Amino acid sequence: MLDFTKHFATRIRAMLTPQSEPIPDSGQVPNSAGGFAWAIDQWDRLDRFLVLGSEGGTYYVGERPLTIQNAHAVADCLAQDGPRVVARTVEISESGRAPKNDPALFVLAMAAGLGDAPTRAAALDALPRVARTGTHLFHWLQYVRGFRGWGRGVRRAVAGWYTQKPPRELAYQLLKYPSRDGWSHRDALRLAHPRPATDEQRALFARAASRTREPVQGEGEALALVRAADALHLDAEMEPRRAADVIRENRLTREMVPTHLLAHPVVWEALLEGMPLTALIRNLATMTRVGLVAPGSTASRRVAERVADADALRRARVHPVQVLSALRTYASGQGVRGSGTWQPVAAVVDALDAAFYLAFAAVQPARRRMMLALDVSGSMGASVLGMQHLTCREASAAMALVTAATEPEHFFTAFTAGSYPSQWAGMTSGLSPLSISPRQRLDDVVRSISGIPFGGTDCALPMLEAQKNRWPVDVFVVYTDNETWAGSIHPAQALRQYRERMGIAAKLVVVAMASNGFSIADPEDAGMLDVVGFDAAAPQLIADFAR
Ligand code: CA
Repeated sequence: MLDFTKHFATRIRAMLTPQSEPIPDSGQVPNSAGGFAWAIDQWDRLDRFLVLGSEGGTYYVGERPLTIQNAHAVADCLAQDGPRVVARTVEISESGRAPKNDPALFVLAMAAGLGDAPTRAAALDALPRVARTGTHLFHWLQYVRGFRGWGRGVRRAVAGWYTQKPPRELAYQLLKYPSRDGWSHRDALRLAHPRPATDEQRALFARAASRTREPVQGEGEALALVRAADALHLDAEMEPRRAADVIRENRLTREMVPTHLLAHPVVWEALLEGMPLTALIRNLATMTRVGLVAPGSTASRRVAERVADADALRRARVHPVQVLSALRTYASGQGVRGSGTWQPVAAVVDALDAAFYLAFAAVQPARRRMMLALDVSGSMGASVLGMQHLTCREASAAMALVTAATEPEHFFTAFTAGSYPSQWAGMTSGLSPLSISPRQRLDDVVRSISGIPFGGTDCALPMLEAQKNRWPVDVFVVYTDNETWAGSIHPAQALRQYRERMGIAAKLVVVAMASNGFSIADPEDAGMLDVVGFDAAAPQLIADFAR
């Protein structure tokens, strides 16, 4: 007989719908690749934007349209419940779950401009919690111009940003982040016009407003910090050793030191002592190039210890993707923009490798049988977060390793639809075992992922293949941009078929690697979950759901 219900039925489980068509009555929408998927709701899209941003766009959608789409989703959320948008933004930003803070600053600027009165007030109140550095403040000032004028509210919020800081912290911000993106403290202070509460504040504001380094007079730790930084600039003849003492005594940062002094290892040695962890990770290559970080050196040992300190990583909100990016650059021995080379120190590379895992929120293993399936199709070759040296497929492998490191019963697969070139022997189905392991170094894993040939996308393959081979799987974790199109059956249907034929109540977790609005997960099915790739809490969310 012809099984007509294969082509049309109202009970979803009976049907096989090609991905080029929507499942009838399911509410699916066209994705950007010519397939059909579900549209995620605007709040989920807000989360995707807060974590993934839109820098660099996706494989299918340019940066501009992707930004506009996401901004529309933010505006929808603001219209529904503005204070909830502000609360979510603060939560994601403060917890360090996102690799970059810029999307949070942008959403906060939208809320301060487009929200109703309580939303605007909440957004302005939250400014110091989301804009934690001078650079953050400048970014927010730039963004907010797109949505409102200064007005009394913005003036008061910006004035508060300056006046509520303890004196040394204020001096630190003024010296460390003097200007960015066309904004300086001088501009911000002139527009906000804060009334200084103390003589110390008055002197600091005056210093920020002045274009020269005239000696600052007055008592207190904050002004001493300014004088110390100025001394390094005013005395061009200062011996590097003497400069190192000044840096040590006053805990100066790299930004406060004139460039000519940064060629000396002794200066870097002093900087290292008080260096914030994020700066330390960013300056590893430079410290190696000047010879401070060298095989067996005390500095190397100290650096390795600090980089792999779980508590310090969390306190400094170091995001795993920042660590991954630093690891790739450092281990390559070559600057991204081709500026300079260095000999990477193995102990430091190992420490970065450990730090990647430690930077995630602690995960309790779910102890379920997990299939970690990586979409390695063409579109996953797009770069992520505007980082030229990291693609979606490489980053998703790194994300999958974190789950693999905590779940003893896991196996990896990589899938693309369509045939591989013949030299990729033995792989006809589009799904191939992937021999990677958390015991390997991350940069090796990334290298092996980069070598897999590209193809089309069929996100149903993991479930179909597991069914065909009768592999018992409790949780399928699929890392993808959700731009699936090449399959003869939708992933959600393949999962239901798997559950039925295997008698296992298998779940599906979709880890989204792009900030588009699509998901292969059926929102009506409680056994399917969407999480955002690069969310530092993603492995924890996956384990909780699996359990
Ligand atoms: Ca694809």
